[in-house]
Amino acid sequence: MCRHLAYLGPPVTLADVVLDPPHSLLRQSWAPNDMRGGGTINADGFGIGWFDSGSGDGGPARRYRRDVPMWSDSSLPDLAESVSSEAILAAVRSATVGMPVTETACAPFVEGAWMFSHNGVVRGWPNSVASLAGTLPPVDLMTLDAPTDSAFLWALVRHHLRQGHPAAKALTDVVDDVLALAPGSRLNLLLNDGLRITAITAGHALWFCEGKDSITVSSEPLDPDEPGWQPVPELSLLETTTNQCSIRSRDEGWS
Ligand code: GLN
Repeated sequence: MCRHLAYLGPPVTLADVVLDPPHSLLRQSWAPNDMRGGGTINADGFGIGWFDSGSGDGGPARRYRRDVPMWSDSSLPDLAESVSSEAILAAVRSATVGMPVTETACAPFVEGAWMFSHNGVVRGWPNSVASLAGTLPPVDLMTLDAPTDSAFLWALVRHHLRQGHPAAKALTDVVDDVLALAPGSRLNLLLNDGLRITAITAGHALWFCEGKDSITVSSEPLDPDEPGWQPVPELSLLETTTNQCSIRSRDEGWS
């Protein structure tokens, strides 16, 4: 169910991260290794977010999304070869049953320098979490990217971020609120703000690989033969910059 990745480090082309590795996101769109909880391929669209190279850590995020399988977009290779960036977030989508297949339902969801993705499902959607809608300004509800659980989770996370909450608090608060109302939800969340990548594991795999001055976080290792890939344990918060990485467990209060 959906695969996503985030990169921070020296400029690389979108193709370097998304298309070219042996087990790239492109390959994971049609041959993922570790799909859990239903779904076999990720053919319901895709998205790539990035900063202009040299724009610093403030973005703004640029974005390309399509509602077709990544492998069928014949324009993507040229675009991906010609754009370089220090901050990337990309995702391929396997739509949850009952949710629309449309470009605007594809991650990344972006605002300013924030780029966000959700891999999973909110159990009992939408009734289970309807009370959380009341915590959002009406305009946010009227302008959701799409009528999906992921777009709603983004609206909740963005609301925290707009209030100045750190990324880790925004993600953990939303996960705690949603799991309280919708137990069993799968909530792998991934946020790249250009300074750090922050992620939660809840129900799906996530790996990270520290390079020289770079960090890559991905649902599945992009190169299974590369020794640096490490799994993030279930129900954990990963917070990483290009030179610092911490993992904290929900059982220990995310601290
Ligand atoms: N439920 C989300 C959607 O339909 C995410 C799906 C997934 O992770 N496969 O877009």
